[in-house]
Amino acid sequence: MATQEQVRNFLAHWFQLGKPVVLAGNQGECLPAPVFYQGGYSQAFEDCWQRIMSTGGEGCYLRGTTQSIATMLTPAWEVTACARCTMPVAIPTLGMMKFPCPCHDLYSWPNYEVPIPRSAVDDQQYLSEIQKSLNQLRDLPPPGRRAPYETGETNAFSSWRTMS
Ligand SMILES: [Zn+2]
Repeated sequence: MATQEQVRNFLAHWFQLGKPVVLAGNQGECLPAPVFYQGGYSQAFEDCWQRIMSTGGEGCYLRGTTQSIATMLTPAWEVTACARCTMPVAIPTLGMMKFPCPCHDLYSWPNYEVPIPRSAVDDQQYLSEIQKSLNQLRDLPPPGRRAPYETGETNAFSSWRTMS
């Protein structure tokens, strides 16, 4: 299921390529600029998101796509990367991909000579998130609890003994 944050990230990427969201009920289109401000979403982006969410995303869709934002937020849809251009795309969780990536009508895309659209992610925070998940994978206690090489071997041995 696509979360609100994934859908916002999806929209932010396409906004950076100049693709607007078509709003519900003949309210026209919405293409916030700038998309980001100081490592987060801009006020223009948040205003646009509020307008989309005023109908729960019903009747709103990224121009060039057929599924509404509301549909994307249902469990039957998820956001993944386009095989052609690596931009985020919305696809049904089950079944065949019948819908082209929104890049299909951008003839100059992919274009590796322009900056690639990015997320509003703060790099430092992003890196520390990666660090955190790596630490969880290794199942290490938080740094500072013990010296790295001092008791590692004994710990590994005792956990092996517990398991067997
Ligand atoms: Zn694409």
